[in-house]
Amino acid sequence: MTEVRIRPRQVLVLIIVFIIVLMMVHRNGKRTCQGPEYLQALYAEQQADTLTKIYAITPTYSRPAQKAELTRLSHLFMLVPSLHWIIVEDSNVTTPLVTNLLHRAGIEKRSTQLNIKTPPEFKLQGKDPNWIKPRGVEQRNLALTWLRSHHDNDHHGIVFFMDDDNSYSVELFLEMLKIQPGRVGVWPVGLVGGLMVEKPLLNDDKTQVVGFNAAWRPERPFPIDMAAFAISMDLFIKNPQAVFSYDVQRGYQESEILRHLTTREQLQPLANQCRDVLVWHTRTEKTKLTSEEALQRQGKRSDGGMEV
Ligand code: UDP
Ligand code: MN
Repeated sequence: MTEVRIRPRQVLVLIIVFIIVLMMVHRNGKRTCQGPEYLQALYAEQQADTLTKIYAITPTYSRPAQKAELTRLSHLFMLVPSLHWIIVEDSNVTTPLVTNLLHRAGIEKRSTQLNIKTPPEFKLQGKDPNWIKPRGVEQRNLALTWLRSHHDNDHHGIVFFMDDDNSYSVELFLEMLKIQPGRVGVWPVGLVGGLMVEKPLLNDDKTQVVGFNAAWRPERPFPIDMAAFAISMDLFIKNPQAVFSYDVQRGYQESEILRHLTTREQLQPLANQCRDVLVWHTRTEKTKLTSEEALQRQGKRSDGGMEV
């Protein structure tokens, strides 16, 4: 039998290799939680036992850009594990386009796909511009009904009305997690109401909302956009009468829902004392399809067998 003699030098090399391997494994492990500070904070928050769920309610309807809009949103959801998506299609059936999209983003387990068609008579009334029937009413109300019977009573939850065409920063969702039970959080919204930014105005110590800078219909009880606030779930349970209504003037949906739930004084200012814009009321241009229509008149189409 030959005797294997290990020299001290070899031991030293082995130890060094071992340490290098250890360091590499450690670095790889860390890589999954790297990224900007707010993303790390979001993940830390979500690993805590007191997991708060954010229920995002999105009314959506079929049009050429629908998949593009919903893809943007679904990829945001991939970054924010505490989000539960209640997506309500304005149609008589749920569609494979939405089902497939949830599946592809791997978020079907934390999504609820519902549908309800806006009655056609509500879509036609465009004569008096102040009384055009609002969009998304039926869908948001269905989502609220679902939420009131399905949410987890033992945990704090947040409800956010998330239209499908706005632009949202991941940072906004970290802000929402700061909303206290029984309160409504508010923040600025960019590109809305004819202004670069609509924002709540705060008192001297920046703890209370004392007004709003809105230029469009500033006399509204809450002159803010649907994207400007999120609500502690317990308020919807305590106030079952809080629903959206067709019988309000244009621009009054936000005031209609909020008047049941809170007062100006009770609003919780967020987003760096309402100085940061983390959501924008963008609107997608209507898709022009003149050449597609010409093709279809010849019995052809560019998207045969493709979901666009
Ligand atoms: N919406 C809908 N059915 C419609 C029109 C709109 O479900 O017939 C949805 C739309 O997808 C969006 C929300 O309602 O999530 C608000 O609509 P939109 O973005 O057109 O309103 P605005 O930007 O004018 O506030
Ligand atoms: Mn919109």
